[in-house]
Amino acid sequence: MDILVILYSIILMTALASPFLYIHLNQNKLLSRESEEKSTLDSERKMLLENLKDLKIEMDTGKIQASEFTELSKDIIGDLKELDSKLESIKTSSPSTKITGICRKCSFHTTIPGAKFCAMCGNSLG
Ligand SMILES: [Zn+2]
Repeated sequence: MDILVILYSIILMTALASPFLYIHLNQNKLLSRESEEKSTLDSERKMLLENLKDLKIEMDTGKIQASEFTELSKDIIGDLKELDSKLESIKTSSPSTKITGICRKCSFHTTIPGAKFCAMCGNSLG
């Protein structure tokens, strides 16, 4: 029963902290918004992994059943997946928007969205 109380307090704290994270994010608009967002997501991710690790320890020490672990970790894993896809979209969207697609070496126009190399000569488009 104790683990549920601990878990709910962690969830509650996370929920209470999130608006402050957004305020913090908006206060630093002069800084790169993308890198700021990325570091926020990174710290959220670390926190979730930490929660998951704690849960795993509880299971390993026999405080909770494996079925309970599966049930409790489901939400955390769901959040992790969401964070990972957000991080992935930041990583892939930022550099590709700067790429014009016109090769500096042979002037061939590569029309493949997000292409990093020239389709003609293989020269880097970054
Ligand atoms: Zn080229």
